[in-house]
Amino acid sequence: MRSDRKMGCRMAGAGARLMRWVVLAAVLLLVACGETASGTPAADDRDDGVFAERRSKLMAEIRASEREISEPVLAAVERVDRHRFVRPENVGEAYENRPLPIGEGQTISQPLVVAMMTEALGISPGDRVLEIGTGSGYQAAVLAEMGAEVYSVEIIPALAAWSEENLRGAGYNEIKQRTDDGYFGWEDEAPFDGIIVTAAPDHVPQPLIRQLREGGRMIVPVGPPGFYQTLWKIEQTTDGVVAENLGLVRFVPLTGEMSAEDP
Ligand code: SAH
Repeated sequence: MRSDRKMGCRMAGAGARLMRWVVLAAVLLLVACGETASGTPAADDRDDGVFAERRSKLMAEIRASEREISEPVLAAVERVDRHRFVRPENVGEAYENRPLPIGEGQTISQPLVVAMMTEALGISPGDRVLEIGTGSGYQAAVLAEMGAEVYSVEIIPALAAWSEENLRGAGYNEIKQRTDDGYFGWEDEAPFDGIIVTAAPDHVPQPLIRQLREGGRMIVPVGPPGFYQTLWKIEQTTDGVVAENLGLVRFVPLTGEMSAEDP
């Protein structure tokens, strides 16, 4: 009897302890879920309300920068849902004005840099624009919002596939993509009105210059990997190539055949 009661008691004690753990775990789970629901909304959240405030704060920051960005470019940047072009774990930071990791050691560019490079390209609706380094697809989406016919090349297959998913998911079905070494451009579709290189080579790829039509512009960061690079605007004119220095930027290096001799 005694020992039975003791045993029952021990069991009851163990049961109560177990219950306490279950309740504690349930409370912790609720707190964690609450934070996730309000702090990190799902990327496919159709109700854009959560992001609206962050988006207008980002736009105010871009407008306040020293770089002059025209209204059409600002409007294009504002229309793109950046939260659809980041990894799920970074959705909460999608509207911060900084680059974010996208896997494979690569990053989605800073919104101000995307705005600045788009501005420098001087796009008119209908222009054929080649992007080197699709990455997340974010810059390509901004170019499409400018009315450009966009061609984009990515060297890492996993990123090419992911950016395609992002672009289709956000409704950009017209962008043409290809997995290849962008150092050589997209010969079959040349010439282009604009070329934008979103990874840094240590010299200007000659195949890209050759794929610019007369009057065409190329925006390219050139410099050593791991440091700041110089952003160049290169224009193909009747008198040859004209280059303008747009200041210092920081990009991941262009990989592939970059270091090989130009063909
Ligand atoms: N435009 C992108 C930025 C991505 S970062 C965005 O808006 O998210 C630069 C990208 O260039 C990376 O995805 C990298 O894999 C790619 N890249 C590097 N070298 C390349 C090459 N030789 N050809 C094509 N893409 C290249």
